[in-house]
Amino acid sequence: DPRHEELTAHDSPLFASLPGDLSISFEFFPPKTEKMEEKLWDTVEQLKPLDPSFVSVTYGAGGSTRERTHATVARIISEAGLPAAAHLTCVDASKAEIREVAEQYWEAGVRHIVALRGDAGEPGAPFVPHPEGYRNAAELVAGLKQIADFEISVAAYPEVHPDAASAEADIDNLKRKLDAGASRAITQFFFSAETFFRFRDALAQRGIEAPVVPGILPVTNVAQARKFAGACGAAIPDWMDGLFEGLDERPAARQLVAATIAAELSRRLYAGGVRDFHFYTLNRPELSYAICHLLGRRPKGGAA
Ligand code: FAD
Repeated sequence: DPRHEELTAHDSPLFASLPGDLSISFEFFPPKTEKMEEKLWDTVEQLKPLDPSFVSVTYGAGGSTRERTHATVARIISEAGLPAAAHLTCVDASKAEIREVAEQYWEAGVRHIVALRGDAGEPGAPFVPHPEGYRNAAELVAGLKQIADFEISVAAYPEVHPDAASAEADIDNLKRKLDAGASRAITQFFFSAETFFRFRDALAQRGIEAPVVPGILPVTNVAQARKFAGACGAAIPDWMDGLFEGLDERPAARQLVAATIAAELSRRLYAGGVRDFHFYTLNRPELSYAICHLLGRRPKGGAA
């Protein structure tokens, strides 16, 4: 496998020759309090010099963050001058309500939507569409495209979404979303480069050519991550428990371990030809910054 040869070529010296020829994006969640807002703003300012292609802001369950998502995206565009995408879900919303939200985004200068079905309440609970709403993300994509010419990204699941009848059916669903007008997929987080490569091969076999961008989650707390991972089509591998064993009272060591795991995964992806990376920042700059740095990314225009 030529990918493995390439990986070996980059294995020594570690990371040293990576040129940073990447397209990167950062995901944030809308802050709840003033303090969290300050933290997010600091994160945006710190990551901005790495020149992301875009950043995105998530949408809380049931539209609970509707105003906050809007305000955050609008502020990132107007004050930081970064292209920002708004996540949007079908949960508890009629098509008319979605239209209203989408039109407000367009008016605020938002040109990119991450279109999702969303989940009903608790993770893992069955999704029930709104009687006047969209039944899945593919329908949402088609609806949004009728409202305005948004750039649209959608979700993809290297380890298969829990609601999918099979891995093939899940890939068919991704194809429907792309055929409906999405131009990029961003994956759920995963922890093995091979998992991503197998998924990429399966998509290529199905004739999918759109970019599928790996979502990188630097995990600092395994127990917490495992709580929600199962319900979102991702698994936390057992080896990760071993790597965090005994570090409960050592937050700084946990950060270093988290960065090492995520950077090593990213490096393997890079060695396998991946150049697009999406980082789940959890509104913290350090880990994502360090991983980008290790991949050779430097601030645009020199030091910052
Ligand atoms: P869909 O693509 O609609 O698919 C959901 C499942 O249903 C799949 O298994 C699919 O195969 C199946 N399916 C769909 N249509 C059909 C059909 N016609 N027939 C049979 N099966 C079908 N959630 C939030 O609430 N807010 C966010 O901001 C958010 N951001 C996310 C960002 C990323 C990058 C990712 C990967 C996920 C995000 N999520 C978010 C989580 C997402 O909402 C959930 O994973 C949700 O359960 C599925 O959404 P989807 O858009 O993938 O759904």
